[in-house]
This record gives sequence, C-alpha cells and structure tokens, in this order.
Amino acid sequence: MGERVADKFLKDSATKPFDQRRREIISTNLDKYRLAFERSKSKFLDLENSKKKANLIKWKTIENLERYLLDFESNFTKRGGQVIWANDAEEARQEISKIMERHQAQSVVKSKSMVTEEIELNHFFEKQNVEIFEHNFDTPSDASAEQLAMKTGELLRKKYTTADIGISGANFIIADTGSIAITENDGNTRLATSFSKVHIALVGIEKIIPSINDVDLFWPLVASHGTGQNLTAYNTILSGPRQEHDTDGPEEMYVILLDNGRTNVLEKNDQRQALYCICCEACLSVCPTYQNITKKTYDTTYQILIDSLIPPNLTSVSEFKYPAYASPLCGKCFDACAVGIDFLRLALLNRRDSVQQGLIPKKEKRVWKVFTYTIQHRGLLDFFSGKTKNFFLQFFFKKTWGEHRKLPKLAEKSFSKQWKERKDQ
Ligand code: SF4
Repeated sequence: MGERVADKFLKDSATKPFDQRRREIISTNLDKYRLAFERSKSKFLDLENSKKKANLIKWKTIENLERYLLDFESNFTKRGGQVIWANDAEEARQEISKIMERHQAQSVVKSKSMVTEEIELNHFFEKQNVEIFEHNFDTPSDASAEQLAMKTGELLRKKYTTADIGISGANFIIADTGSIAITENDGNTRLATSFSKVHIALVGIEKIIPSINDVDLFWPLVASHGTGQNLTAYNTILSGPRQEHDTDGPEEMYVILLDNGRTNVLEKNDQRQALYCICCEACLSVCPTYQNITKKTYDTTYQILIDSLIPPNLTSVSEFKYPAYASPLCGKCFDACAVGIDFLRLALLNRRDSVQQGLIPKKEKRVWKVFTYTIQHRGLLDFFSGKTKNFFLQFFFKKTWGEHRKLPKLAEKSFSKQWKERKDQ
C-alpha cells in the first residue's frame, strides 16, 4: 500500500480537478448539504458551546481511555456480552472467523461500516469463500435506480432476517451502561443485529464515550454535521445479547475492540486529538482541496480529512504527508469540525514530522538551500536578470506546478532595485 497511496494522490490530483462533470456533481451535492446543515444548525441553542462540550468529553475520554474501556467491558459482560480485544486487523479477522466456526455459520449479513473496510473483512471472506450479504447502496439518482434499489433492498431484507451472524460497526461505545450506539438512515444495521443469532460489533477503541447521557449531544452533532439532519432516522443502543424478557435480539453478542494502530496515535501527545473524531464528514464538505480533487484521491479508509492527516495505522508519514502539504491551511475544517479538532496544528505537525524524518526529496532540499542562500544575499539576487530567474523557476518547478497552470513570472527587476530607482528619481 506504501508507494501506492502517494503515487495515486499525486496522479489523481493532477487530473481530477479538471473533470468538469465531477465538479458539477460535487458542487450540487455540497449546495444541498450546506442548506440542510444551516437548517439543522439552528436547532442547537448554542452550537459552538455544544462543540466545545463534545471536545471536552472526548479529551477526557481519550486521556483516560484505558479506564473507560475497562468500564465498558465490565458493564457489557455483566449483561452477558463478550468483549474481544484485537491488536490489529489480522487478529480481528481471526476472532470473527473463530466465532463463525464455533457457530457453524452458513450465512453472514454485514452492515456497511468503515471499520470492517479498515480490516478488509470482505476480502477476507471472499478468500474463505464465505457468502456475505451487505446493503451498500448510494442514494439513487433517478426513479428507476430508486426502484431497483428498493427491490434489491427487499430481497436483502429477507437475507437479513434469516442470517446466522450479523456484523456491524458502531458509532459510539458507552462506558457506563456497557452499550454500543449505532446511528443510520436505512435501518439495515438494526435488522442485521436484531434477527441474527449472533451479533458481532467491530469498533475502534477511540469510539468510547463516558456516559449514556452524552449520546444526546453526540447523535445530533453527527446528524447535523454529517447530513444536515436533526437526527438520523434510526438510532439504536444495544447493551448485550437478548435478555429473558426481550422479544428479539441476538442470543450472543460480541464487541471486538480494535486497536490497529490507534494506540500509536495515542502515544503522540500533540496529535492524539485526532482520536476525538466522530466521523461526521463535515470537514470534508468544507475543504477546498477535497472539493477539487475529490475524496477518492486520498485513498484512505475513512475518507475523512483527519484520516488523511493521521491515519490510525500510522507508522510513517511518508505516504500521508501529501494531504498535509496539499492543505491551504485556510482553517475551514477547524471551524466545521463537530468536535473542534485543531486541523491546522495537525497538518503542520505532519509537515514537521515529514521534515524530521527526512522525507523531503533531495531535489527539493537542494532548491530550498539555494533559495535560502540567495534570498539572504541581496547582491546575488539582484545580480541575475528576471529572464535568468524565470528560466530557473521553470527548470525546477514546472513539473511540480502541473500542466494545467502557468507559473507566475518574476519581474525583470527585483523589488529592491525598483524601490531604489523610484527613490532616486
Ligand atoms: S474530523 Fe471531520 S469527520 Fe471527524 S469529527 Fe471533525 S469534522 Fe467530523
């Protein structure tokens, strides 16, 4: 994956912004989102205060992550649930496989979730010849597509109600009640988790929040910032398998707590706030870079801005320094973030890391060295004509600047020369 991410980013970012059709689609969707967001925003008494509160809660939780996770485990197991700790993607896949073997599972339904994509679960199932059903439709764009989606949805619903195992993600893990909270618009996760005999929820450890009382802050924040809704259509809190008095629900419920590099981020004092993210995607909707080169260019699992700046399975910034450099540092993502993550700081820290780790190309280093020397020696700068300077500019930067833009031209005479001449007149 190493080389691929950077190469793809550079290649796509040189072509995608010039795809007029794509830009029109993005722009129409963003206009719709902005209108909806403005409406839902007005439902908050004081949105800025809610964001600050959310930031504070996530700060407290991430600073005490171990304690809250253990609280969750203890409360969840009291109600008959089972917690599995997975260090990485492979462990998580193997644990899922073991549960399936134990139950001799014939059919699996899986609701669309980013964390299952993170561990490449579909690919794993394909290799094992396990048949899985997943509802994964984008919003249909016309009537016939809508009909087709409904029809296929109906067929899949039958599968959902008869499957042995249901696999889902979760938006939040609630420590004090030992529950998981799921928010969705199509209700399929609820189906998958209620009818299956066994429910496996795969969740990143950073999704923890301290109390069930915090849900009434986080659910509206996700809904308003993500889709401009006051609240998403289906909101479910699950606190273990079916109890005696329950009419439905799984006989067994497992929560797999996934690390997969998140503790690497946790180790970094100044970057751990990336773990506050609630995946609402608001940052994406306002980022001018994202809007132009489209989210696919980033090739990150979560396709949210934070994931491109500090992906959880970060071992080196070599492949992920491009988004930090591509950021214009305009600060729109910071203003938009539902939990007040300081993106500018993260982008700058990412750039710092890439310099400290010597990830800047040799050619670029040489150019900066020459530039620094020249700019500090006025005589040298004035010695060369504008023509010569433009030649070097073209020589070094034409490729980086891209085919679609013209490099700006330097004036024939430097600023100081012009200033001097004006003064002498
Ligand atoms: S980083 Fe982006 S996706 Fe995450 S909470 Fe902030 S705005 Fe939402």
